[in-house]
Amino acid sequence: MSFFIKRLSIIGIGLIGGSLAMGLRERGLVGEVVGVARRQSTLKTALEMGVIDHGTASAREGVEGASFVLVSTPVSAIAPAVRDFAGSLEKGAVVTDAGSVKGEIVRACEEAMPEGCYFVGGHPIAGREHSGVAAAFPSLYEGSRTILTPTEKTVSHALERVRLVWEAVGSQIEEMDPDHHDSVLAATSHLPHLMAYNVVNTLSDLEGHLRQEVFRYAASGFRDFTRIASSDPTMWRDICLENRTAIVDMLGRFRDDLDKLTQRVEQGDSDALFGIFARSKGTRDRILQDQMVAPHTPADGDKDK
Ligand code: NAP
Repeated sequence: MSFFIKRLSIIGIGLIGGSLAMGLRERGLVGEVVGVARRQSTLKTALEMGVIDHGTASAREGVEGASFVLVSTPVSAIAPAVRDFAGSLEKGAVVTDAGSVKGEIVRACEEAMPEGCYFVGGHPIAGREHSGVAAAFPSLYEGSRTILTPTEKTVSHALERVRLVWEAVGSQIEEMDPDHHDSVLAATSHLPHLMAYNVVNTLSDLEGHLRQEVFRYAASGFRDFTRIASSDPTMWRDICLENRTAIVDMLGRFRDDLDKLTQRVEQGDSDALFGIFARSKGTRDRILQDQMVAPHTPADGDKDK
């Protein structure tokens, strides 16, 4: 089924929102794009790149006349933005978001919807370390997955519309309960990001001379492992604040395993160490093998934010 969005509104025109607008425009699926951001410099860049046709700092003004609204601000700003602009929505408007955390956000946004407007939670599992609209590009979602998080309040035609939009830019849809989404992402994406940030900090806290040597000789393994530590600090602060419970649970599990590993190293327990590494290698090899058979398998936490 095809569709055409006469006026698309993107609240938080950055990497994620900008890339969706560009992807839809490239496919001729959108008429006018209105972008909302706090800074004039963001709007200027979005206009110069041709990502948006109009820019404003007012979300209320930005959603006027829009039939489809994507909220792609950092997660802490999603629910406040939706509450702020809800009263200015056109009747029939479908609102979705791109936040990396879903539970509380979905509940708050559903609650804020006026009669005749529809909210559907979403999370595109696609991204990169760079943020801001200047990093946006139209093919970002090709070959990706997008998780939609309908609830018993979700209206089926709105869910269908959001599904069609993401599919149109090349993403495959999965559906998940919002709280379950947060547990899954805490494991596949949030834990690895926190580990990468922490490894870099542990090394940079080493005493002067040793630290310099460590970074001088950092090989490609270090670069691979810590790539995601270049991600946007604002976004990751917000994710930690919004998904606290699931993240703390995952960190606890990780800490238990790290304690066991530390013990084995201390004890010089060769068999146990070999067992730990062999089991881990086996698991990783199997996951990669499965992904080669089914390239959309949702384990790309490193691409998600
Ligand atoms: P981004 O590139 O930094 O874009 C966010 C945009 O929102 C910025 O242009 C910012 O511009 C604007 N903004 C910030 N606060 C705002 C507010 N209160 N009202 C209106 N606009 C505001 O971030 P992103 O990477 O696109 O991420 C956006 C959302 O997608 C986040 O919720 C994130 O969790 C989610 N997500 C990200 C990725 C990823 O890989 N990056 C992947 C999946 C999902 P101003 O500073 O000028 O306001």
